[in-house]
Amino acid sequence: MPSQERERSALEHPLDAETRLVALLGDPVAHSWSPQLHNPAFRHQGLNWAYVALRVEAEELGAAVEGLRALRFAGANVTIPHKEAVMPLLDEHAERADAVGAVNTIIVKREEDGARLRGDNTDVVGFLDPLHEYAERVRGAEGVILGAGGAARAAAYALLSTFAPRRLTLAARRVEQADRLARDLAPYDERDALSTVPLSEAEQAVRQGQLLVNATPLGMAPHTDETPWPHANDFSPEHIVYDLVYTPAQTRFLKEAAARSATTIGGQEMLVGQAAAAYRQWTGEAMPTDVVQRALRDIAH
Ligand code: NAP
Repeated sequence: MPSQERERSALEHPLDAETRLVALLGDPVAHSWSPQLHNPAFRHQGLNWAYVALRVEAEELGAAVEGLRALRFAGANVTIPHKEAVMPLLDEHAERADAVGAVNTIIVKREEDGARLRGDNTDVVGFLDPLHEYAERVRGAEGVILGAGGAARAAAYALLSTFAPRRLTLAARRVEQADRLARDLAPYDERDALSTVPLSEAEQAVRQGQLLVNATPLGMAPHTDETPWPHANDFSPEHIVYDLVYTPAQTRFLKEAAARSATTIGGQEMLVGQAAAAYRQWTGEAMPTDVVQRALRDIAH
């Protein structure tokens, strides 16, 4: 069936007993964009699937995860504050989820003796997605990650496991948080590339590096005048400057880097990449990312 026809027939098809369900488990979830990314993709592909955001309080997380099994959900995304707490409740994890220490995606696998819940961290693949285009510049390069929270964990593991950086500096305002991350990722640091520095002392690493990643929330709407790196003169055409913040699409950090001819990558690419990696595992289909990009533009306006 042509895709427009399939989309129309799916739209005309109300939710019913055959509908496959995917949930977002988090608290809060009201502002999540995920339903607006996945549902248009399901519709476009004529899949009788639905994605619902469910607010789950910490003390109910165990019951909610068992509910996925009992109610025959196909899978789930997990967001703040449950990404770490959900791990012991699952039957197995992808290696990258163990390495990062967080799960953002659950895949429910139906087997003869019941359902098995597999945890994955698709932020790792989502982060890497837009970097493959620049693989020659990134492989073996010197990189700096600003911030040392959950997104920094996924980014640092992704870089170590895929691009074997010569040097990877973790810069955080609380350097002990960066130290902890470096310790946790030591098993994946084959080239002894990791080092840490207080954010206020990262200037030399930033100037020398070829890849600069913002993994702090600085610059995120409504605080669009903020930036994690106010020293715009440090940017150069040799830099790839990657902002994980996805709203607005063009942050101050990216604008200032682009003004000095750096290559820039916005957080919406990672957002779509992590969603696509989850979607493929749930449905077995490639996510129609052009449809999702269009949906993103509609949300952002
Ligand atoms: P997180 O776990 O809370 O970590 C945030 C990091 O930024 C921490 O190291 C934090 O340090 C630091 N930070 C916060 N405010 C700061 C400030 N004013 N100055 C300096 N450092 C500051 O958050 P996360 O989950 O890693 O998310 C970080 C950003 O990435 C968010 O904007 C999020 O939306 C984005 N993100 C995007 C995607 C995507 O798909 N594009 C995926 C995941 C995350 P402290 O602990 O000291 O506060």
